[in-house]
Amino acid sequence: MSVFVSGATGFIAQHIVSQLLDQNYKVIGSARSQAKADDLIAKFGNDANLTMVIVPDVAKLDAFHEAFKTHGKEIKYVLHTASPIHFDITDVEKELLVPAKNGTLGILESIKTYAADTVERVVVTSSFAAILDFTKVNDKSFTFNESLWNPDTWESCQVNPIAGYCGSKKIAEETAWKFLEENKNVVKFKLSTVNPVYVFGPQNFDSDIKKTLNTSCELINAAIKEGPDAKVAELGGQFIDVRDVARAHLYAFQKENTIGKRLLMSNGDFNTQDILNTLNADFPALKSKIPVGTPSAGVEGGQLGALVDNSATKKILGFEFVSFKQTVDDTAAQILKMHKI
Ligand code: NDP
Repeated sequence: MSVFVSGATGFIAQHIVSQLLDQNYKVIGSARSQAKADDLIAKFGNDANLTMVIVPDVAKLDAFHEAFKTHGKEIKYVLHTASPIHFDITDVEKELLVPAKNGTLGILESIKTYAADTVERVVVTSSFAAILDFTKVNDKSFTFNESLWNPDTWESCQVNPIAGYCGSKKIAEETAWKFLEENKNVVKFKLSTVNPVYVFGPQNFDSDIKKTLNTSCELINAAIKEGPDAKVAELGGQFIDVRDVARAHLYAFQKENTIGKRLLMSNGDFNTQDILNTLNADFPALKSKIPVGTPSAGVEGGQLGALVDNSATKKILGFEFVSFKQTVDDTAAQILKMHKI
């Protein structure tokens, strides 16, 4: 039996596929084009346990029908990671909301149509964005946890791309829980979601180090490449390492205690000054090539704004998360190696 991974070419998904292959699972991944599928197969050394299908655009509600019509009876687990995560857009509805919602609804409808008896577990990659309420974010007396949802609606989130992304993740995740509630007598699967904060860490393959990286790692890449006088965007939030996020996806379908749960993946607060502080402390080769900023403005280990309490998730998963220093160091070391800095 196989694990289906949608968006298998993505930053997080490549780590998921890697961990699945290491554990001897048969994996069926989806990519948007044959070229991307071939590239992934080559990167995994033509592993006989990895096959790929082409799903060009998850915005189409029947996008996964062909894949599940062909392979549905072989698929026991489904990990749905494919969803747009970029902010350089002009049409929030078309570029974020529709693909996020339809991708989730579409893959669940395909399971219902072609694999209702075979798929036992589904894991949807949601986000802390589905939980994050911007009106509470600076309130140090407020605590976010696994039970909360952002207040966005389809209409209200269209004010800008960041709000649009948060709305897209909330609406997509809600769609999944609602689908299961409405179809619990028709489908067999149990549902879990993984809700990560900012995900850092190395690309699964060195060859994926490009001039611009995936949205979250680009925060570290930008600090390295923009020169000593660059004004690094003042951003903050929580961090988690990609290898922990991938591992949580595997636990989410392998363990019983994850059924019906939202796994809020966070290992603490950070801001962009913490990235600069870590890079300046740990990479002598970057001396005077990157900004110093205001070292005392870092927050690592402290509290940025509202608290994020994911003790319930940590208890369920029971493994230690990678530290901020480690995740930044591993991300940067790979960038420096590939750019020969
Ligand atoms: P990537 O951009 O690397 O991965 C996204 C994947 O989804 C890619 O394979 C992409 O294909 C695919 N995809 C996007 N839009 C479509 C579409 N319309 N049709 C088909 N496939 C599509 O980002 P990440 O790995 O970081 O993100 C993976 C998941 O994790 C997403 O659901 C994201 O929301 C979630 N997440 C990420 C966080 C982070 O900090 N990185 C934090 C919280 C959640 P292609 O590359 O070919 O466009």
